Amino acid sequence: MALEEKREKRPPVTPMMIEEEAALRNGSRGLPPGPWADAAGPRPRTTERHIAVHKRLVLGFAVSILALLAVTMIAVLLSVRFEECGAAADGPPRAGGNGSLSGVARQPPGAGQPLDRPEEEARGGEAAEEEEEEEEEEWQPRRELPPWARPRLPRHLRPLHYNLMLSAFMENFTFSGEVNVQLEVRNASRYIVLHAHRMHIEAVRVAEDKLAGGVRVARTFFYPQTQVFVVVLNRSLEVQRSYNLKIIYNALIENELLGFFRSSYVLHGERRFLGVTQFSPTHARKAFPCFDEPIYKATFKISIRHQATYLSLSNMPVETSVFEEDGWVTDHFSQTPLMSTYYLAWAVCNFTYRETVTKSGVVVRLYARPDAIRRGSGDYALNITRRLIEFYEDYFKVPYSLPKLDLLAVPKHPYAAMENWGLSVFVEQRILLDPSISSILYLLDVTMVIVHELCHQWFGDLVTPVWWEDVWLKEGFAHYFEFVGTDYLYPGWNMEKQRFLTDVLHEVMLLDGLASSHPVSQEVQQASDIDRVFDWIAYKKGAALIRMLASFMGHSVFQMGLQDYLTIHKYGNAARNDLWNTLSKALKRVGKSVNIQEVMDQWTLQMGYPVITILGNETTDNIIIISQERFVYDSDTKPKDPARGDNSYLWQIPLTIAVGNTSHISSEAIIWVSNKSEHHRIPALEEASWLLGNINQTGYFRVNYDIRNWKLLINQLTRNHEVISVSNRAGLIDDAFNLARAGYLPQNIPLEIMRYLSEEKDFLPWHAASRALYPLDKLLDRTENYNIFNEYILRQVASMYLKLGWPTNNLNKSLVQASYQHEELRREVIMLACSFGNKHCHQQAATLISDWISSNRNRIPLNVRDIVYCTGVSLMDEDVWEFIWMKFHSTTAVSEKKILLEALTCSDDRNLLNRLLNLSLNSEVVLDQDAIDVIIHVARNPHGRDLAWKFFREKWKILNARYGEALFMNSKLVSGVTEFLNTEGELRELKNFIKSYEGGAAVSFSRAVETVEANVRWQRLYKEELFQWLRKSLTQ
Ligand SMILES: [Zn+2]
Repeated sequence: MALEEKREKRPPVTPMMIEEEAALRNGSRGLPPGPWADAAGPRPRTTERHIAVHKRLVLGFAVSILALLAVTMIAVLLSVRFEECGAAADGPPRAGGNGSLSGVARQPPGAGQPLDRPEEEARGGEAAEEEEEEEEEEWQPRRELPPWARPRLPRHLRPLHYNLMLSAFMENFTFSGEVNVQLEVRNASRYIVLHAHRMHIEAVRVAEDKLAGGVRVARTFFYPQTQVFVVVLNRSLEVQRSYNLKIIYNALIENELLGFFRSSYVLHGERRFLGVTQFSPTHARKAFPCFDEPIYKATFKISIRHQATYLSLSNMPVETSVFEEDGWVTDHFSQTPLMSTYYLAWAVCNFTYRETVTKSGVVVRLYARPDAIRRGSGDYALNITRRLIEFYEDYFKVPYSLPKLDLLAVPKHPYAAMENWGLSVFVEQRILLDPSISSILYLLDVTMVIVHELCHQWFGDLVTPVWWEDVWLKEGFAHYFEFVGTDYLYPGWNMEKQRFLTDVLHEVMLLDGLASSHPVSQEVQQASDIDRVFDWIAYKKGAALIRMLASFMGHSVFQMGLQDYLTIHKYGNAARNDLWNTLSKALKRVGKSVNIQEVMDQWTLQMGYPVITILGNETTDNIIIISQERFVYDSDTKPKDPARGDNSYLWQIPLTIAVGNTSHISSEAIIWVSNKSEHHRIPALEEASWLLGNINQTGYFRVNYDIRNWKLLINQLTRNHEVISVSNRAGLIDDAFNLARAGYLPQNIPLEIMRYLSEEKDFLPWHAASRALYPLDKLLDRTENYNIFNEYILRQVASMYLKLGWPTNNLNKSLVQASYQHEELRREVIMLACSFGNKHCHQQAATLISDWISSNRNRIPLNVRDIVYCTGVSLMDEDVWEFIWMKFHSTTAVSEKKILLEALTCSDDRNLLNRLLNLSLNSEVVLDQDAIDVIIHVARNPHGRDLAWKFFREKWKILNARYGEALFMNSKLVSGVTEFLNTEGELRELKNFIKSYEGGAAVSFSRAVETVEANVRWQRLYKEELFQWLRKSLTQ
């Protein structure tokens, strides 16, 4: 599963700069003459035309909203009628037996209620409670929880095979199903407990395989607390026999983002609907009764009956299709190999496709809305998918396991994508790509999401984690391979060696440096908690630990180990110790002996990470002192586990170290640091030589030095930075900024390091600086001395901005391949220049926007469009906002839509920002998954921060109802609107809100409080120190 990346960090234009540049507000007229002023021509007024366009838009909305209301009412009516039919069909409850079906005449949890009912209402009826109490009495004397009340399914049964027959009624968004589960009995029991949630069960039958007779069903009930359905039998099922459980049920195709849900798109002015599934991690139980835990692998045979105007898809290819006279068809899919429920999938849609075939004969198809397929928007994804399957087959030495792989591009999805085996689902913005209007960044996003999901076909689908505590095993690998796989496609990009650092390592160390972090392996039991494990710690820390491991094992041994691991555990489950054992054996084969489990347990079971301090010893030559402690941003924060102070944290750290002087750096040596403090002898440590730790930043930790060594390193960077590798240059920048932010280092050190950037021609160090500056910028952007900081940054950026200039041409494929680093560097520098208010940058953006409006031709270079749009909206008048708003509605290209929407959040007009916030919750205007981005982007804008924060608090109930179940989205929202709050007043508001709010996202809120506390603390302790140094530096 790929989460939405926030790869891009664009500090919105700052308040001071906007005032200075007020002249730009009336188009580009009144600009002072400058070297580029000629280019900035006047712009015609466009208000009238746009007002007219607007009326049409408003009218269009009104009509579509009325239509939606009508459709919803019809659907509700139909579902009520359907519900009545269902209840009538139940008849009076009969005791099952002799193969007859026992009716279950009870109010099902949720079914029959309005389509959009909130989660908490989904509870069983009174009758169910009585049954449950009756059953519980039997368990009380035994002093144990009855099997249905335990957080995990009881282990006495195991599903071997499911036959699932579904009928999808797209006209009223309901479906009915019949599931036959073949069960193996491990311990005798009268109870069958399996997951089922939010469905109406019509009939249940239990029969012994190979025997005609049924087993009488005494009663059945739902137990909503654990989302299970319980079948109580008159007699025990016997050990080592196999039984068949048949359940007939029906449910809604929900208008939400989980389970079997619906979404829609418009084709030729007509709204079309589709149904698709998202089962990971615990939502298969909403679509069919099942043993919804990853350990219960079984085979599945699925049939889907639907109107012939639709097509249906599932994990396996269609074996036969049976057409009926009334315009219905049933597709029977081939049987799957052994697999877990969470990556089972199906879809009912009227998409079209294009296809390709791999060398080994796997048929790959990309399905999307017909207009996108016709435009060729899926071709890029299709092409790289074929190559990536070949890459993984070669890398893992295990062939892709299914005959086909379909990629499905859907308009609405809670995650960027989901790796269902053989039927991976992607949100359109992460798979469709129109080469004529996509930036490199967009291409990179699309590429990496596809690489990620394909990796899961092996890591996750073929070999599945035993339980969700080790979700990082699959997500960490898939995230790590995003970089390895992209390197295969674009060999010159050095993703694993370079971009991994800024996008993964630096990013997650921000999160994991909070005292409220959690270990990468975290225990979970309750279904409602399981979504919680899908967070950046699992993905990014998981990936960073895997990269550290690969690096100290050596990449070829690591690869060999993975091949063994996949071969041994294919079609089964594995826990982290299985991986460690296999990797240790691989190491042993090449004559190395490291107890990988012992090392890695410290990194996966302890939260946080260490900061290593390397101190030169003034009395004894060649001896250094290396110490480790847990890195935390706010040392005042009470540790989460008070029994465990920060002092007790220890890691076995593979510290690589090298010695350098003005022109040369030694080859690296590895030192395993496992104590609080150790002395080590370093040969060839001379007077003027410096030490550098964590070579190429392969380790998951920070390194600090004594001030003398920092000064030597700064000196080296200024004189000849190329002696130090690109990745270490980026690493020094990130470490210095964060060590200073946490108070381990004086505030001036990172700013002094930055000075060498005027000579830096590599993208990565600039990118690291830009990302590290971002939180600092947000800490300062509403302070009265902000302009001093701003001025300092502008000075560092100015010369490189002049040197690189603006891109002129649009990108073609060969150019992307060849000049990725250069184009990304230019983009980064332009972004910094425009964000911090470089006048030329502002003029250039305004000119480009004006040209677009007056000519109605968009000639803005693709790679900087988002920067230009945002800068234009923030500097120019309301017409530009309206123009972008209109373009947002009229464009059909998903990549363009996304950046247009984000640009709207850059305005400094609070009325417009409020209008946008209010519109964001209208699903007809802004897709559900994009609404969160709108709110977060408004919060990043200094003019919008308090608006977004207020909006968030006022709409919390709506937002929580909408995203509460997809916890990842909720926590992204919570951190997005709170992470830059930094005053005592805002901290109080946050705490008061948490006191008064009702339920949900508790973990996200405790993290938010700690972040804001650290922000407030930094303001109190270090802000003045920073400004003092900046003042002095600017006057020198
Ligand atoms: Zn994933």
